[in-house]
Parts: sequence; structure tokens; C-alpha cells
Amino acid sequence: MPPISDRISSLPPYLFSIFQKKKRDLEAQGVDVIDLGIGAPDLPTPSFIIDRLVREVRIPANHVYSPYTGCLEFRQAVAHYYQKNYDIALDPDTEILALIGSKEGIAHMISAVMNPGDTALIPDPGYPVYQSAVHLAGGKAEFLKLDPEKNYRPDFDNVPEGVRKDATLMILNYPSNPTAATADLDIFEESVAFAEKYNLAMIHDAAYSSLTFNGYKAPSALQIPGAAKQVVEFGSLSKTFNMTGWRIGYAVGNKDLIKALSIFKSNTDTSQFLPIQKAGAEALYSDFSAVEENITIYDARMAIMLEALNEIGVTVQKPKGTFFIWAPVPAGFTSAGFAEKVLEEAGVIITPGNAFGPSGEGYFRISLSVETNRLKEAADRMKAVQPGGSKS
Ligand SMILES: *Cc1c(COP(=O)(O)O)cnc(C)c1O
Repeated sequence: MPPISDRISSLPPYLFSIFQKKKRDLEAQGVDVIDLGIGAPDLPTPSFIIDRLVREVRIPANHVYSPYTGCLEFRQAVAHYYQKNYDIALDPDTEILALIGSKEGIAHMISAVMNPGDTALIPDPGYPVYQSAVHLAGGKAEFLKLDPEKNYRPDFDNVPEGVRKDATLMILNYPSNPTAATADLDIFEESVAFAEKYNLAMIHDAAYSSLTFNGYKAPSALQIPGAAKQVVEFGSLSKTFNMTGWRIGYAVGNKDLIKALSIFKSNTDTSQFLPIQKAGAEALYSDFSAVEENITIYDARMAIMLEALNEIGVTVQKPKGTFFIWAPVPAGFTSAGFAEKVLEEAGVIITPGNAFGPSGEGYFRISLSVETNRLKEAADRMKAVQPGGSKS
């Protein structure tokens, strides 16, 4: 075997791939598996975005390398989005960067901020990429516990003094994957103050900022006065416009952090294909009625699943954002034990909460990314799963 770096070979196994293997095994046995584990929309990209892509692909001038920071039209569209939604004025040249998806941007930003051995505070439970990206940067991840009693607000009081002093970076994510928790401005206020006090770079992952329900509008961390000193916010078109495969997102905020990420990226990639950026700009300049249509669909799906869960004794408050349901496992189960039982007895994949960090133990995540009939079927099958039985 050729040499492989310690950073790669010491990465913990990806829990999701274990479930995908079980899914394949069951399907090979003829089981009709319904996968509620996939954290990506099943809905198509709105046609006005596709139309713009197709037009732009035909133009030879669009076949060349993009500027490293992304094309001006895309960065201006991001500025427009922040102006319109948050009344925040951003400079497209120094405060906005196009990304090949926000996952890329977050991972590279972590490497652009941390030195090997540095500490990063990452949310627990949280999106697993944060921990692996810190690991790949040679950094040390410390969990920032989110308090389920306080709607998954960061528990800053219990961050040990040593960790505060050592940390160079902090990551937050609202509306949250996996908990579906949302933040009001006071959470960002407290977080920015903490970041300022300990001079941390604060990364806010806002991948679900436009997927919110019932008139709730997710705030931006950049709305906090002084946020421009510490904060960079990551946005994505993936979940908002059903564009996961297109790979288009953005980073906005602190000029020094944006510049550092831009330097990292200009030595690693050459931004996204221009027609994709232009189609992304089209999406951000739109009236977001396509997003409203998505939300209506998720809302209906959410109602079906919340009711089914209620019938099996799992009560969950309706989330204000994301297409996830985060729920406690029935009494007597571990997260993995319950996920296994639901897969074996109902043929339904749910994600065990501990896949998102130690504090996720005792919970599971359902993704509402299957069509209504399949979701109803999954809900009915889950209702038939007897509590108790093969506990683990
Ligand atoms: C899906 C997701 C992302 C990644 O989105 P891309 O822009 O497609 O890379 C980032 N953060 C969270 C929390 C996500 O769920």
C-alpha cells in the first residue's frame, strides 16, 4: 500500500456509510427500504435556474476559468440578498467569496484559521464535517455543548477556562442540522461577545437560513454590531433551491477571514463553473417564491411525520426551520439501538443522534426528503414498530 497520511488514516469511520451498507444488504434481500437519513432535498431545482444555466453554457466566454473569488454577478447577488433580507451592506470585492458549496468553504476556512495543535469549539450535536475538517487541519476539536433545555443554545458557561484560552475558532449553525433548532439574535449577541472576548474567529453556518416556517425569519449573525470584527457566515444554495449537486455557496463577513480563505482557495481551486455561478445569481435575485413552494411541501411532510411520531409516544415541538425532525428515542433505547430496530422491523432508515456528537445520544434525526406517499408509508411502518423488544 502506498503511504497515506496520519490525518487521513486516523479519521473516524463515517457513521452514515455503515447505514448505507445495511441498506444495500436489506435491499439485496428484497426489502423496500425508505431512507429518511439523507440530508438533502429530493425536489428538483426550479426551472428558471436551469434555464439560466442552459443559456450561459452556450456562451464560449463562460468556458474559461472564473475569477478566484467568483464572478462579480454572483458576489453582487449575495450582496443583494443580504441587503434585502438583513439590511446589511456588504462589499462584493472584500466581504464576499463564491464557494464550490459551503462544505468546501467551511473546511478550507478552518485550515485558513487554525495552526496545527490549535483548538476549535464545535457544536455538539453538530454537522460531522466540522470535526473532520478540524482534524484534517491538524487542530483539536472541543465540543461546545448545546443545551436541549434551552432550545440548543450554546452553553458558554461550561466551556473550561483552558479551552477558552486555547481556542482560535468557534462554529455555530442555526437553523441547525441535526437539531432543527433556530437562534434568535440574543444567541448571536452572546456568541459574538464570547468570540470577541477570547479573540476567536466565529464561523456561522447558515445553510438553512431560508428554509423556515410559519413566518419565522432566521437572523444573520452579521446583524450583531461588531460582528464584522470576528464573524464569517456561510450560505448555500443547496438546500434553499434544491441545488446540492450544483456545488454553489458563499462566505460573507470579516475581510481578513475572507481574504485568508480566498488565499487558501486560490492555491487549491479556481472557483465554480461560470454558468453555475450565474444561475446561482439568478436564484438569489429571484423573489424566492420557489423557496416558498418548497417550504409548503416540507410543512405538509412535517405534519405527517410529527403526528405519526406522536402516535408512538414521541412528542416533538414543530421546528421553525430546516427539513429535519430531531426527536428523543423511546424509553429504553440507545440511539443506535432504536435506529437499528426501525431499520430491521420497518425498513426505514433514520439517523442515530450520536452520529452528530456525544450529546446526540438519546435522539434520532428524520430527514423529510422523500415524497408524501413514501413518508406516509414510513410513518405507518414506524407506528407498527413495537417499543421494547430488541433493546441495546
Ligand atoms: C448540507 C449542509 C452543508 C453543505 O452544503 P453545501 O453548500 O452543499 O456544501 C453545510 N452545513 C450544513 C449544516 C449542512 O446541512
